[in-house]
Amino acid sequence: MLGFLKRRRHKAIRSRPFPAEWRAIVARAVHLYPLLDEDDRRELEGDVQVFLEEKTFEGGGGLVITDEIRVTIAAQACLLVLHRDTEIYPDLDTVVVYPGAYAANVIRRDGPVVIEGREERLGESWSRGLVVLGWDQVSHDVRASGTGHNVVLHEFAHQLDAEDGDVDGAPPLPSGARYRNWAAVLGAEYAELEAKLDAGRPTDIDPYAATNPGEFFAVVTEAFFERPLALRARHPALYDELAAFYRLDPATLVSGARGATTARGIKAPS
Ligand SMILES: [Zn+2]
Repeated sequence: MLGFLKRRRHKAIRSRPFPAEWRAIVARAVHLYPLLDEDDRRELEGDVQVFLEEKTFEGGGGLVITDEIRVTIAAQACLLVLHRDTEIYPDLDTVVVYPGAYAANVIRRDGPVVIEGREERLGESWSRGLVVLGWDQVSHDVRASGTGHNVVLHEFAHQLDAEDGDVDGAPPLPSGARYRNWAAVLGAEYAELEAKLDAGRPTDIDPYAATNPGEFFAVVTEAFFERPLALRARHPALYDELAAFYRLDPATLVSGARGATTARGIKAPS
């Protein structure tokens, strides 16, 4: 919960007018935004204002940080915390954005051998207050919305997962019963994905999700927001867990919008 002083400060930030240029960026970045009701749109905009006030953006590799970059990333990150009456990513201080996939110095242990090298990265979430993203990938995901991939949603799901100290595929949940349900549903889905991959069968969930439970949670978060109808149809129990955690039902929003289009009399080709 928020303390009194912080709540008052946030209220002041949220009461500032939301620039029309920012609203256009949010509408491009978050395909669910136009489907939200007025209160939810206003709440998301307020979350974006608080996020931009509290977090620092740094350009890596010579990238100049623009409003397009800041607002796009903030809007997608804040979609994950809509309707959540807590601080917005309390552990996060800094978002570093590189122009493209960036090379990271990595040290990996393979038994007694330490492998040092440089690796191409699309994004990463550091539990100690830092998210690193490549703008090429972020802007590609905006243009290719609906493919099921979104690096910002992925990295910020890791941030939520890390809030309880471990990136283990279980973000903070309100009760022991919810934890047990979460573990049962996501555990079964994870086992099913591993079994399919072991058998060489095709999977509708990105195989990268089978890396570990933390990656599983981040990958299915992308699918939940980006391809909600497909996820609900094929993995209803998983969809329900994510809908309860994210306090949002994207599949209903998307299908409602489709229904409304038909109802307005746009005729299907005969
Ligand atoms: Zn990841």
